[in-house]
Amino acid sequence: MSDTTAPIMAQRGRAATRTHGFTESVIREMTRVANEAGAINLAQGFPDFDAPEMLKEAASAAIAGGINQYAVTWGAPRLRRALATKYGRDYGMEIDEAREITVTCGATEAMAAALLAVIDPGDEVLIFEPFYENYGPDAILCGAKPVWLPLDATAPLDLAAVRTAVTRRTRAIVINSPNNPSGRVLSRSELEGLAAICIEFDLLAITDEIYEHLVYEGRHVPIRTLAGMRDRTITISGASKTFSVTGWRVGWIIAPPDLTSPIRKVHDFLTVGAPAPLQEGCAVAIESLGEDYYVELAAGYRERRDVLFDGLVDAGFRCARPAGAYYILADFSALSDEPDDVFARRLARGTASVPGVAGVPGSSFFHEPADGRKLVRFTFCKRVPTLEEAVERLHGLVS
Ligand code: PLP
Repeated sequence: MSDTTAPIMAQRGRAATRTHGFTESVIREMTRVANEAGAINLAQGFPDFDAPEMLKEAASAAIAGGINQYAVTWGAPRLRRALATKYGRDYGMEIDEAREITVTCGATEAMAAALLAVIDPGDEVLIFEPFYENYGPDAILCGAKPVWLPLDATAPLDLAAVRTAVTRRTRAIVINSPNNPSGRVLSRSELEGLAAICIEFDLLAITDEIYEHLVYEGRHVPIRTLAGMRDRTITISGASKTFSVTGWRVGWIIAPPDLTSPIRKVHDFLTVGAPAPLQEGCAVAIESLGEDYYVELAAGYRERRDVLFDGLVDAGFRCARPAGAYYILADFSALSDEPDDVFARRLARGTASVPGVAGVPGSSFFHEPADGRKLVRFTFCKRVPTLEEAVERLHGLVS
């Protein structure tokens, strides 16, 4: 190494340390495996049906009408207005769209920006598992320590264990209900228990509610609406799942002004803003779609859930019927002795006579991979015929 390259290499070594131990997203990797093998992709959570026509028309009209430059950094005024109205109507939430909403590039950026804004190096962040795979890396990017807590798909949330996990350094609890990957929907009393812990120990609740409209059992309760939580909650949601536009990359954060202010700064330097014409498309959808849209959306997903769930159980998987979101975490221990990654890859590749079905190895949802070794996650955000075909293939592949 020459004298001039040595300092550069040292810099590179430093830059790599924060992401040390990160693996590639297993979910996106399984999409590639599915594409290569020609498998039905039940790995990554994007619909194989199109977005509602009116969203596409509204976004096209925005482009044709000249909305093609940067939007206001923290979100197009029309979208923030529409969101404030919708949250008021749906949950009775009072939101000042001028000071409490930040529109982001998806819920993905929203979570990263929120954590970067409010978490300091050395802080601890409580995260339930099985988890959506971004939360741990997001915490680590902040220099924080993720502290893992179990959230069983069927048993009540162990609030005593949450309380015990809080230390002097704990700053926030990350909540995801309805949950990816378990389909768990936290009840009002479980959320009240979490709220009480947040208040007692002065913690923030950072809540990813991207599946808020996909609830089949129970009701979605935004933790921000519970007594004492408005000023300590960062609510994240987005258009991806509700409007079947995962490629648009439009999400949002609702937080009190003192938290929105640093969040907006992080968001500004990370991405400047979300795509302007697509924000317009989302605004039009939120303004004009009534209650029946959301009811039909959930009803369609309930039907898809039942097709996949019944098919998996018939094929010999063990799983809990999800109460929300659009995933099933299935135990395959009665079907194979293979570890999850070997099993999932074998299913994705298929055989000479039965083409493949891709799922996600369960170990990617646990900090101890061993906890997911007998699990595979399948999504049901696909058309019923796609799911029926997938179920038929799975029968052939596991029997
Ligand atoms: N949060 C959860 C829990 C998810 O399951 C997903 C996508 O699968 C996201 C966030 C990503 O949302 P977005 O497309 O808005 O970035």
